Amino acid sequence: MNITKFIVGLAVACTITACGQVNEILPEVNMDFPAIIIKQELPREMVLVNPWNPVPEDYEADLIHVTNGYYVDKQCYDALNEMLDACREAGNRPLICSAYRSYNTQTWLYNRKVNQFIGYGYSRQTAEVRAAEIVAVPGTSEHQLGLAVDIVDSRNQNLNSSQENTDTQKWLMENCWDYGFILRYPTNKSDITGIIYEPWHYRYVGVETSLAMRDSGLCYEEYLGVD
Ligand SMILES: [Zn+2]
Repeated sequence: MNITKFIVGLAVACTITACGQVNEILPEVNMDFPAIIIKQELPREMVLVNPWNPVPEDYEADLIHVTNGYYVDKQCYDALNEMLDACREAGNRPLICSAYRSYNTQTWLYNRKVNQFIGYGYSRQTAEVRAAEIVAVPGTSEHQLGLAVDIVDSRNQNLNSSQENTDTQKWLMENCWDYGFILRYPTNKSDITGIIYEPWHYRYVGVETSLAMRDSGLCYEEYLGVD
């Protein structure tokens, strides 16, 4: 199967989350938009990954352990810890629930799910589509960069829109920019990012870019000028 066609078809057919889950309630967005492919000539911390721009083949995460078995790229390690410390000092309880994920891990998870559906009697083609509704297609998850983290409030660990009402998330959404992180999938931008609103997914892009994005109100694809 042509993987590009598959990914584009998938994005039109359903709404996936960057974390590989399907949102049970589809947002009211126009998903019928063209695939945008850019040349990856960006600084390392600014690499664009979305359903149409897979992780570059030569990208290698330089990993360091953060907490509870979660790893991130060294490039964002200090900024992440500073942000989490400041968030805690403000009285909040941030908890990392996802960070770096390797291509092999993503592939293993994906193939396991495909085989599970084949075991249920589906054709391979249908099994691949059904699997991708649950586990992101390998190569298209921003988590593979090691520059994205999912952070929840320890008192509400549900990955849904209720996160935006937690004190931890309110603080992060207001202050992440000062530490070089962006709220990668803001509300009302799903038709551009291809990903549903995720008020828990933060991506490191460097403080110069994050502050410029905060001031502009643009999502990352818009900021990079590929919309
Ligand atoms: Zn995520």
